[in-house]
Amino acid sequence: MERVIGIDLGTTNSCVAIVDDDGVPQVIPNRGGYKTTPSIVAITEAGRRLVGHIAKRQAITNAENTVYTAKRLIGRKWDSAPVRSARQSVSYTIEEGPHGDVRIRLRDQAYSVQEISAMILQEMKLVAEEAYPGETISRAVITVPAYFNDGQRQATKDAGQIAGLEVIRIINEPTAAALAYGYGKSLNKMVAVFDLGGGTFDISILEIGEGGVFKVVATAGDTFLGGEDFDLRIMDWLIDGFKKEHGVDLRQDRMALQRLKDAAEKAKCELSAVSEVDINLPFIISHGPTNEALHLQRQIDRATVENLCADLVQRCIEICQGTLKDAQLGAAEIDEVVLVGGMTRMPAVQKACAAFFKREPSKGVHPDEVVAVGAAIQGKALTDEHEDLILLDVTPHALGLLTAGNNFDELIAQNTTVPTSATKTFTTSRDQQTAVKILVMQREGTENQLLGEFLLTGLRSAPKGQVEIEVTFAIDSDGIVSVSAKDTETGLEQSIQVTASSGLTQEEIGQMMESAEEYMIERKESDELEGAKQQAEKLVSEVEKLFPQVEAVVSSSDFGREALAKARDVIVKTKDAIERRDAAQLKEQGEALSRTLKMFKGVASRPS
Ligand code: AMP
Repeated sequence: MERVIGIDLGTTNSCVAIVDDDGVPQVIPNRGGYKTTPSIVAITEAGRRLVGHIAKRQAITNAENTVYTAKRLIGRKWDSAPVRSARQSVSYTIEEGPHGDVRIRLRDQAYSVQEISAMILQEMKLVAEEAYPGETISRAVITVPAYFNDGQRQATKDAGQIAGLEVIRIINEPTAAALAYGYGKSLNKMVAVFDLGGGTFDISILEIGEGGVFKVVATAGDTFLGGEDFDLRIMDWLIDGFKKEHGVDLRQDRMALQRLKDAAEKAKCELSAVSEVDINLPFIISHGPTNEALHLQRQIDRATVENLCADLVQRCIEICQGTLKDAQLGAAEIDEVVLVGGMTRMPAVQKACAAFFKREPSKGVHPDEVVAVGAAIQGKALTDEHEDLILLDVTPHALGLLTAGNNFDELIAQNTTVPTSATKTFTTSRDQQTAVKILVMQREGTENQLLGEFLLTGLRSAPKGQVEIEVTFAIDSDGIVSVSAKDTETGLEQSIQVTASSGLTQEEIGQMMESAEEYMIERKESDELEGAKQQAEKLVSEVEKLFPQVEAVVSSSDFGREALAKARDVIVKTKDAIERRDAAQLKEQGEALSRTLKMFKGVASRPS
């Protein structure tokens, strides 16, 4: 049976896991041996696509063409507050797309955020395929923050499709973490999953029951609260200090911004282990006001960072408070707190969390890997009928309609178990009204957000209040919403899957899939070429090493001299093929060189 992978598509790092043949969930390391891959994509000057560590390493010198934190932009509208704020702080160019969506310019092409995320997903798929050679891996469970809205979920699913993956389920990150925590143990516990990652904060309260039942009781979060915000605070501190000292605003310099961002994040991470660090950025400005080079050199301690970020930590705690209230539970009723996400390594976060829940968090899970592991477990459970696992998740947002007078009429309450549906009957508000506009809204905090709209036309003409319209909202197991409206008397019906109005069309997705496939073919060819090149280089070096030894033995005979001349010729031709990256020649000369090496080894091993 084809395997299913679990992918944690993170803001900063991504991770892929699988349940192996023995039923043990495993994180799959990438080629470099790392268990997580930076969620970073870049296009080089030569037009080459880089993903992961290799993209991260060149981010400073290619800042304008390197995308990070794409997850903060996915499914968002161009004119939304989060996108406006990202436009100020990122080193790459964000443009408005044809649907009021977000596009990212890399070199001469504008990419949708879904395409950028698809590049990361494709890379994770490749990591898995390399671990299971000869197998096709095309099915995946992908995780999203619990607080992701409909548009963000749909966009993530589209990204999976573009990457050539069949996304069999979208699941919430804290729920996945809870699955990984409780899988295979017969627990009976109320668990809080506190998930602070690079870009988002989520808190979920789950009841884990015997027999593998995982029931989410309440969830909440903030999709714009994460490690990046902590980094920005440190960056601002550095920028303000620099301005005071030198009168120069580093915000105007993209390369300086990228270096500051890296330094801020590094300092933040180091301060989880030590109490003070030096930040050194030589030549941060190559030409200052009087044409001299300027260097940034500062010391920062843990207390300063804690002060700069105190309100961010406090915000997490406030969200926890609200969630416990929604769950109608007191902190003492929580049996276990599971910490997820790289940011939970920060001592101030751990301390605040322990103080709020009045207990030390569980140490049993790996914060960077647990989400992908949970996704893999869910993938296995969905495809293996012998797996006893029941997952009951909830919708993070209330859903309803906007009715006359701008009133939000709720159909599905926040924290309702999904899948779910709800129906409500409305009547027309005007005489002879033959059309009604349905505005599908979602309540995020105190704000109402338009998810989508559609028009039910062709209603029978009647005095106001006499035509009844039945509106049904449904949320599927991926958390994706669909809505239908029906004239109860005529049975006339209209429905939509509420893809946020910033979503891509099926045609666009199709085109993006094609170019992603083309890339994969090129990538595989280029990987094969790289492999052949490395093999040829190895053979050349081995033959060259043995050359003097073989020459000493055989050069006295005509036959031997002829063989040596032939070997020299093969070496020259192989080096030429390596230089020209000529796949056919590499293959031909590589084979000839293997034969030469075999012959050389034979001669070299002869007793003299
Ligand atoms: P995640 O999205 O779970 O990969 O979390 C990534 C976030 O965790 C980034 O903002 C990192 O800077 C942050 N992070 C990773 N390690 C540490 C650490 N030791 N201390 C503080 N933050 C960290």
